[in-house]
Amino acid sequence: MRLEECGECTGSGVKAGTSPKTCGTCGGQGQVVATVRTPLGNFQQVTACNACGGSGQTFTPCSACGGDGRVRRSKRISLRVPAGVDSGSRLRVRGEGNAGRKGGPPGDLYVFVGVKDDPDLKRFESINVSSTVTIPYTKAILGTTQKVRTVDGTVDLKIPAGVQPGATLLMAKRGVPKLGQPNVRGDQYVTVKVTIPKSVSGKEKELVEELEGLSN
Ligand SMILES: [Zn+2]
Ligand SMILES: [Zn+2]
Repeated sequence: MRLEECGECTGSGVKAGTSPKTCGTCGGQGQVVATVRTPLGNFQQVTACNACGGSGQTFTPCSACGGDGRVRRSKRISLRVPAGVDSGSRLRVRGEGNAGRKGGPPGDLYVFVGVKDDPDLKRFESINVSSTVTIPYTKAILGTTQKVRTVDGTVDLKIPAGVQPGATLLMAKRGVPKLGQPNVRGDQYVTVKVTIPKSVSGKEKELVEELEGLSN
């Protein structure tokens, strides 16, 4: 909700079909002079005119806005969110704030950004991203190429043969663009989880036993 220019009086606050009149109390001066008697003598005291609030004019207030020239209304606008914003980032939209008083220029709208968490991609150090990839022990031994989610979409990650459980692989420049410097980007750090079967049987067990024999 914001204050917008009143359509009835086009922001003047004056009832349509009437026009402001010179204030009868101050004669349009906006101030009144009173003579104050004190034991030290008479003084001239100048004060703002109560009848017109110091403007020098009186008018019939517009009934739609009560004389303010603005009415409360909501409006939907589309907002371009720059790459790299984070929770708490403040975006300024020029001229979309409250209308100015008496047809004055409008203020600005400030929008505070909240960023939702992603189930896989965790942001850290504001521009870097971490995630996890899970591969079976056979692929850890032999090496593999795995599809990994990034902020750019799914990307192939080459996992070298002999990768250790818990190893972290770096995907350079797959992180978050720096706010205001979109050509500066963070990296994505992918931690490798290796699954080992809880039990093996049949052919797989025979092969593992054969491997065990080889490594001794
Ligand atoms: Zn007056
Ligand atoms: Zn009005």
